[in-house]
Amino acid sequence: MTVDVDVALVGGGGAASLVLAALLRHGVRDLRIAVVDPVHRRGQDRTWAFWDQPGNELDDLLSASWSQVEVITPDAYRSLDLAPLRYAMLRSGPVYERAAEAERRLGVTRIVAPAEGLDDDGERVLVRTGGDRPALRAGWVLDSRPRPPGRPGRTNWLQHFRGWWLATDRPFFDPQRAVLMDFRTPQPARGVSFGYVLPVDSRYALVEYTEFSPRLLTGAAYDAALAGYQALLGLDPARCTVREVENGVIPMTDGPFVARPSPRVVRLGTAGGATRPSTGFTFSAMRRQADQIARALAAGQPPVPAPAYPARHRWMDAVALRALDRDLVGGREFFGRLFDRNPASRVLRFLDGATTVAEDLAVMRSTRLLPMVTASVGDAAGRLHDRLAPDRRPPWSPPPPVVGDEPPADAGVAR
Ligand SMILES: Cc1cc2nc3c(=O)[nH]c(=O)nc-3n(C[C@H](O)[C@H](O)[C@H](O)COP(=O)(O)OP(=O)(O)OC[C@H]3O[C@@H](n4cnc5c(N)ncnc54)[C@H](O)[C@@H]3O)c2cc1C
Repeated sequence: MTVDVDVALVGGGGAASLVLAALLRHGVRDLRIAVVDPVHRRGQDRTWAFWDQPGNELDDLLSASWSQVEVITPDAYRSLDLAPLRYAMLRSGPVYERAAEAERRLGVTRIVAPAEGLDDDGERVLVRTGGDRPALRAGWVLDSRPRPPGRPGRTNWLQHFRGWWLATDRPFFDPQRAVLMDFRTPQPARGVSFGYVLPVDSRYALVEYTEFSPRLLTGAAYDAALAGYQALLGLDPARCTVREVENGVIPMTDGPFVARPSPRVVRLGTAGGATRPSTGFTFSAMRRQADQIARALAAGQPPVPAPAYPARHRWMDAVALRALDRDLVGGREFFGRLFDRNPASRVLRFLDGATTVAEDLAVMRSTRLLPMVTASVGDAAGRLHDRLAPDRRPPWSPPPPVVGDEPPADAGVAR
């Protein structure tokens, strides 16, 4: 049996949930939609932090938001006023619920099975689901299944982290401020680490330890790093309870994610290049693209969003990643200077891919010149080498954990 639809969402995670909610919001009618995913996502499996202007469709879903954030290095403490932006925390549960509500109201067909292949003949796409489940024939496929970049990057790092939802027995956190990046954590031999604190109220916060580096840690090593960060914050473990644990791995690579693999297939989310290589932030680009897709479909147009980031930002990220990876610049210094020499709102809009060329130049001027020139030259040589010998590098896959122990539960995201 084959089910005919206008749009099939293959992968029903973050990117697809935002698309479903946007379709309902933009009043899309009479569109036959299907979602294919072996897992029907519900509940809290991740927490999104991002910045935006208050007063929009996500306001009533947020767990918390802050107009002030802190960026801390061993030598400086920065309290940044984000106005007119805010830094916001959105847990996955409300996002999946809103998507489920949209599914009901839009009459979406859900197929709880993995998609095994897509055959695009230029007019329609056959989505093969395997076994005795119905195949789908779709006018367009929005594909967010996790996948590696089209070719291995010249720099292949990971953002990997573990967070504890900590409840304290007395007021400890300042709910008016979030800690965006705290670089006082011990730094890994290769890469950069930082902690952060996202308080929901004075007794409850998400406290995370994050690394930007080529290798995952063991579970025990994340716990040790988090315990160390907890101590650094002055939190007494005897007065805290870990209510939930959150793990994640996000690719940070200059390998290109192919956004349009065939005429009627559009890749979304991390698989479509929505992850910013220099930071791992993904949410804002997914949200922007979801909105563009819904507007297009509401207007009877093809659901093809603009690229997640301008090409010049992808180049700047490739250079920055290279400079960090080749130890031309230290991570603490790099991010410290970025926030010291630019208004916070410019840095945040830059990281969202929303700055003008003039603002990009100002951001570039805030980094140290020599390492960046060296990294730019290396990047240009790498590009030339790729053109002349494209297939020499081994296929990219995340490296295994250092020793023993299980990798973080969500390691599959980066596969
Ligand atoms: C724990 C965590 C925290 C994060 N926090 C932030 C943050 O604070 N800010 C930010 O900007 N970004 C963050 N990210 C990065 C990014 O926003 C998320 O990974 C986001 O969920 C990516 O959305 P996605 O749709 O690309 O992937 P996912 O949400 O992972 O969805 C992919 C879907 O594809 C499905 N799938 C897999 N195989 C198949 C198949 N064969 N057929 C059909 N479906 C399949 C999966 O079941 C899954 O539901 C975080 C990531 C993680 C893991």
